[in-house]
Amino acid sequence: MLIRQIPIRNSLSNYMYLLACEETLEAIAIDPLDHALCLQVAKELGWSIKIVANTHHHHDHIGGNKSVIEATGAQLVSHLDAMQSIPNVDRGLQAGDTLRCGKLRLEVMDTPGHTLSHICLYFSGAESEQPAIFCGDTLFNSGIGRCDLGGAPEIMYQTFVEQFYPLADDVRVFPGHNYIENNLQFTLDREPDNQSAQSLCVQFKEGLSAESYVSTIGMEREINVFFRLDQAQVRAGIALSLNSDIRKLDDRSTFVGLRGLRDNW
Ligand SMILES: [Zn+2]
Repeated sequence: MLIRQIPIRNSLSNYMYLLACEETLEAIAIDPLDHALCLQVAKELGWSIKIVANTHHHHDHIGGNKSVIEATGAQLVSHLDAMQSIPNVDRGLQAGDTLRCGKLRLEVMDTPGHTLSHICLYFSGAESEQPAIFCGDTLFNSGIGRCDLGGAPEIMYQTFVEQFYPLADDVRVFPGHNYIENNLQFTLDREPDNQSAQSLCVQFKEGLSAESYVSTIGMEREINVFFRLDQAQVRAGIALSLNSDIRKLDDRSTFVGLRGLRDNW
């Protein structure tokens, strides 16, 4: 699979993605908000956009649909239950569906939490090519999406337990926003002794580009506090903030507690 991660330098630091079949150069555009830039990059690469895929219905993900589709005639796909909120969807997707483009195959995951109808697209990998997940506003680098814009933290937790925590360490993570530097600060606020998060912060300060940084699930297990619910420092901090007995805290209440702290951080 050919992947182009395209940062949009807007106030929300959205990413959009172009994924293409290596043989046919037919492409999927994920959440192409900056339609002009998306079309320009596709043209430069010689890729032809056949499908526009929305991870969820928020405007900063669907705002470029119309222009990209007018220019390319692409088919629009989204979560089946997002079809009421996103205009002119051609195909509603459900868990386990396959999205095909040329010889490219992506598996559809139903991942509620940020919104109640949210999909991720999973590429299972190939010989000498690591798997990848395009995860919209569920999993971010070193963080997770908000749950107060139509979602719920308890539902997000269930999605993580069932679908994100079990992913293999080598799965590359391609989120819907570039929030990594701020998220790392939150991880360090909760877990000051986290050496992986410390060292990545230093690398960004020394010039590593956050915009083009691609993490993996293995890396998220180290730098993302929402993957580290059982760490003593994390749990003690949540017990303190909720004024509750640490022995009574489970993973779910730790996760939900972290999301609440992050909302006001
Ligand atoms: Zn969103």
